[in-house]
Amino acid sequence: MTTTTDTLPQPKIAVVGYGSQGRAHAMNLRDSGFDVVVGLRAGGPTEGKAKADGFIVKTPAEAVKDADLVAVLTPDMVQKQLYDEVLAANMKQGAVLLFAHGLNVHFGMIAPREDLDVVLVAPKGPGALVRREYEIGRGVPCIYAIYQDKSGKAKDYALAYAGGLGGARANLIETTFKEETETDLFGEQAVLCGGASSLVQAGFETLVEAGYQPEIAYYEVLHELKLIVDLFYEGGITRMLEFISETAQYGDYVSGPRVIDASTKARMKDVLTDIQNGTFTKNWVAEYEAGLPNYKKFKQADLEHPIEVVGKQLRAKMVWLADNAPKPTSQQA
Ligand code: NAD
Ligand code: MG
Ligand code: MG
Ligand code: MG
Ligand code: MG
Repeated sequence: MTTTTDTLPQPKIAVVGYGSQGRAHAMNLRDSGFDVVVGLRAGGPTEGKAKADGFIVKTPAEAVKDADLVAVLTPDMVQKQLYDEVLAANMKQGAVLLFAHGLNVHFGMIAPREDLDVVLVAPKGPGALVRREYEIGRGVPCIYAIYQDKSGKAKDYALAYAGGLGGARANLIETTFKEETETDLFGEQAVLCGGASSLVQAGFETLVEAGYQPEIAYYEVLHELKLIVDLFYEGGITRMLEFISETAQYGDYVSGPRVIDASTKARMKDVLTDIQNGTFTKNWVAEYEAGLPNYKKFKQADLEHPIEVVGKQLRAKMVWLADNAPKPTSQQA
């Protein structure tokens, strides 16, 4: 990076929400020298945690009153109400409104005040990783975007914030609210969360239904996935191919395309279309407003899947997991 924090602004920051991203952002920004206050509903579930971490915790209305920059890190589905009822009325004139995901602004649920700068800084990783990488002197790559630049310095604010998160140590890439929102939703739905978990469950079911032991099936399709993903992370698919046997490579070439074929890709395109045209977001808002009936049903089915039962028993024997496992506070990606 050519930019340094000496030349960038040092806004007084209010972080609203103290979950997966909120905690990591607040802690990294404080360690980077920023003045940080946390905004939470009194008696909310994460208030005690923020106080135990040494933060001054105020109500969202109080926290944002004299902040130069407000980071909105509550769940996406409560951001519209939070903005309309609390932030719009209490943020300083000319302050910076920052999001970690562009959903509400891109799809028009939030229409920010005209005097505000509106920016996005999205770390490409869950909060626990954003914190852990910072602590060991590294960073998670961040993407940033400008939606509204009233001050003419919106980009400097975004860069200052991303730098404070440790993202500048990894990589910073400029994007748009549209690109971040649509690619983030697609990635988590088709590949990272939805695609990967469905692939693992289907593989496990196939082996168990054919009469193999669930314990063996768990190791084959879930546990060993870590090694493969670590190789992807370090050196792409090239590095995986360097490390696996010739037999595994041949099987990859002939059977991978039988499982993920052109029809899978066509359905991925349908998923992307629903994201782009707002169908996914419209359905998600309706589901949320109805009290999450399908969400709860789907989640329960995942939690009760046989792979979770056997996995719990096997992981109890992996003594190293208790110390090292990140402790996410959220299911979002
Ligand atoms: P989370 O569910 O982990 O935490 C939400 C926090 O907001 C909690 O502290 C909760 O108590 C608080 N909260 C809930 N309702 C509130 C209200 N009405 N007023 C004030 N506080 C309230 O959320 P998260 O997963 O960290 O997501 C935050 C944002 O970051 C979202 O925009 C999400 O899309 C984005 N994001 C998340 C991840 C991730 O890995 N979790 C990654 C990138 C971006
Ligand atoms: Mg994401
Ligand atoms: Mg799933
Ligand atoms: Mg093998
Ligand atoms: Mg996401």
